[in-house]
Amino acid sequence: MFINGEWRESSSNEWIDVNNPANGDLIGKMAKGTTSDTSDAIDAAHRSFTSWSKTPGKDRSRILRKWYELIIKHKEDIAKIMTSEQGKPMKEAIGEIIYGAGFVEWYAEEAKRIYGETIPSNSNNKRILVHKQPVGVIGAITPWNFPAAMITRKIAPALAAGCTAIVKPASATPLTAVKLFELLEEAGLPQGVANLIVGSANDIGEVLLNDERVRKITFTGSTKVGKMLMEKSSKTVKNISLELGGHAPLLIFEDADLDKAVEGTMSSKFRNGGQVCIATNRVYVQESIKEKYLSKLKEKVGILTVGNGFDNDTDIGPIIDKEGYDKINMHIKDAIDKGASIVTGGNGKHEGDCNDFGYFFIPTILDNANEEMIMMNEETFGPIVPVTTFKYEDEAIKLANDTNYGLAAYVFTENLSRGFKVTEALEYGIVGLNDGAPSTPQAPFGGFKESGIGREGGHLGIEEFLEVKYISIGL
Ligand code: ADP
Repeated sequence: MFINGEWRESSSNEWIDVNNPANGDLIGKMAKGTTSDTSDAIDAAHRSFTSWSKTPGKDRSRILRKWYELIIKHKEDIAKIMTSEQGKPMKEAIGEIIYGAGFVEWYAEEAKRIYGETIPSNSNNKRILVHKQPVGVIGAITPWNFPAAMITRKIAPALAAGCTAIVKPASATPLTAVKLFELLEEAGLPQGVANLIVGSANDIGEVLLNDERVRKITFTGSTKVGKMLMEKSSKTVKNISLELGGHAPLLIFEDADLDKAVEGTMSSKFRNGGQVCIATNRVYVQESIKEKYLSKLKEKVGILTVGNGFDNDTDIGPIIDKEGYDKINMHIKDAIDKGASIVTGGNGKHEGDCNDFGYFFIPTILDNANEEMIMMNEETFGPIVPVTTFKYEDEAIKLANDTNYGLAAYVFTENLSRGFKVTEALEYGIVGLNDGAPSTPQAPFGGFKESGIGREGGHLGIEEFLEVKYISIGL
């Protein structure tokens, strides 16, 4: 753990094993933080807030810039750690680190640009000023699917804004976080400003949520846990940002460029083996072009290589754990029972010597999907593409919006007015029009409906860590 600028073991002396999901190899042990360690981290963040919040933006910027440069310099090392604990192919791990570092670079720049306002008053003897100030100590809870980028996307804007932080990464992937924190220390971050603790989510979560000094919770993970955090945050009326589950539809109209649509399906679906909150979960293709689309897609999906992320030709790594693997199998069985047919794939292959690891899944296309199937309503988090058809534009929009989620959606059409009309009608926070990979540091990322609250990235992202103060001046 990294608390108050020091690397230390758990006060309970307990450790968490970190295993490679491809083969079960024990790759490291992480100190298992306790409730009292969490309180220490909050104490440290609270103490250091006084000075960090007053540190000029230019100086905060310089430290973040240094962190960015160190992450880029060490990207291969961090990627090796990430592939070891998370399983994704090395080329994707490097991609995530460059993407994640992009937030640090962006917010290093934004730290200098936290502007207020002056507002014209109704009388000559009053002046109205608006300042922005950091919200205070923040707790960041992050998932295992993007072990680096989900941390930088939260911590870079928080530190840029002048907040101090406690980060709790997922227990499956703490070592990438350790490496990022080593580099943050090397970049010269003052003692106590950012703290790292891993351990029982319930215990650590409870301490963070109950402490009135923690003024904000920022979370990426499941909708279930997000709702619980929101409820518990109400006790001390914390600020809250939630980036929760999604169920992305991908719509392909008959006027689409089919090659672009297939490319977009591949990039939105198969990154991280489909274990992505903005991954395509259901494809709606206009009836007249279904066969052509399926045959082109099958060609691309058929050549994906499944294996250990360290093998150069691997496109799809292991599923994170048995629970994830069982869920995919259950979704496929349910879909087949309800009338789906397999175009390619359809099964997993459990490999490795260790019973608890090596859960690989063959990239799968299912045809004749329908709205009754679980996978058409719930996140599958695996390399599975269910495909169904529609006849009319309005029907496609209605099907796409018929969900409690609202994170990402994708639309493929070469018709400009249709592109505008459909993207505007979709109840989603992120829409890719002829684009299967919309995430980028300068754009706002976040969801409608039960997919979340708030936005990460871009100039909006830093606002999540700022309070507005109105000063009324009588002359
Ligand atoms: P996922 O499995 O998609 O990552 P989770 O919501 O289970 O989604 O986990 C995301 C993060 O939330 C992880 O760091 C996990 O440890 C944490 N988490 C899970 N349950 C709780 C909880 N009760 N309180 C606080 N954090 C939690």
